[in-house]
Amino acid sequence: MLLERKNSGITAEEKERLKIREGTATNNPTCRFCGSLLHHNFADLGMSPLCENYLESSQLTQMEPFFPLHVYVCERCFLVQLEEYVSPVEIFTEYAYFSSYSDSWLQHVKNYTDMMIERFGINPHSHVVELASNDGYLLQYFVQKGIPVLGVEPAANVAKAAIEKGVPTLIKFFGEKLALELANEGKYADLLIGNNVLAQVPDLNGFVKGMKVLLKPNGIITIEFPHLMQLVDGNQFDTIYHEHFSYFSFITVESVFAAHGLTIFDVEELSTHGGSLRIYARHTEDTSKSVSKRVTGLKDKEKTVGITHLEYYNSFAEKVRETKRKLLEFLVRIKQEGKSIVGYGAPGKGNTLLNYCGIRTDFIDYTVDRNPYKQGKFTPGTHIPIYHPDRIKETHPDYVLILPWNLKEEIMDQLAYIREWEGKFIVPIPAVKIYS
Ligand SMILES: [Zn+2]
Repeated sequence: MLLERKNSGITAEEKERLKIREGTATNNPTCRFCGSLLHHNFADLGMSPLCENYLESSQLTQMEPFFPLHVYVCERCFLVQLEEYVSPVEIFTEYAYFSSYSDSWLQHVKNYTDMMIERFGINPHSHVVELASNDGYLLQYFVQKGIPVLGVEPAANVAKAAIEKGVPTLIKFFGEKLALELANEGKYADLLIGNNVLAQVPDLNGFVKGMKVLLKPNGIITIEFPHLMQLVDGNQFDTIYHEHFSYFSFITVESVFAAHGLTIFDVEELSTHGGSLRIYARHTEDTSKSVSKRVTGLKDKEKTVGITHLEYYNSFAEKVRETKRKLLEFLVRIKQEGKSIVGYGAPGKGNTLLNYCGIRTDFIDYTVDRNPYKQGKFTPGTHIPIYHPDRIKETHPDYVLILPWNLKEEIMDQLAYIREWEGKFIVPIPAVKIYS
């Protein structure tokens, strides 16, 4: 009797505990688009700090929060995604990334605005809205042509720079709620732009729903985002960081848009950010723009490489580990030869690479960045000091490791003078390559 009571008591309690424990143990995240349970690994880069959290010297002796960088792929819709470990409010309210510090990026968006004016007749009667408009780097070119614009940018420090250059900007996060508010005020968009923002929204469905709400009946959406196929082909694992919640193939993005009544009618493959897509979308009800052959062409291309099969994603993890070993092997060898190495740039992707590979001041004396916001600070996690680019001229390093490898041509041009002392460039991705 006693035994029985004891047994059943323990069993019930144990059962409850087990349930809790199992619940935690199997608490797999769910797909932010289709809601399926996620259990297929894409890449696991261990623990990393937030990559835009540059440190002041006074913070170097304090604790620093690290979060997992574990990326899954959804077996149903093939959305590659990172759990929302940190809320966007924490990440984007004060942001160190100013788009205007890259000359080639400015040229890219200038060409884009000219093309949109020419191809779709955007004019002073149109209303152009950009989501994540940053420091007004893009909208300024529409403003110059007298075209009314509205920027939406949650990072107050960055938005302030936009407002100062005459680009009206709302300091807010975009989603369905804000879209409804703007729609109520009649602020619909003829052209709705989102560059490198789709990856950065945890509430993907709410964001796309919001675009549907804000778009005029014949309006056009253009979105640019890094192409997952290029990430895999180019081994660009360093573009994985906490700010990037999703990684898209064309096929997956098309199904996300379709689920919210938007049809992608054209697509371009771009070389920016290591290979991006620019998609053109419209309301599904708007038949005035027919679907281009480029859409079916790209879908066929993705199917051929295996985008709709899990095996495609599974092989990536080992490729990443191999890259780490090769890069470290090289750095160890040149350090043993007594050479000096410095970095160029302190981009988000650089911080993923440095943290994942464990590269600190034991390998790299310092890095430099054109962005004055980062100068005088230290890289998150790895604590490498960041200086003005002129430092390279003063210290004559043997090697310069280019962290924003997507801008390597531009950077090697700017730094051509290192050849005066036989300095060389190291580009780490897709595989270590030396340029002398
Ligand atoms: Zn899914």
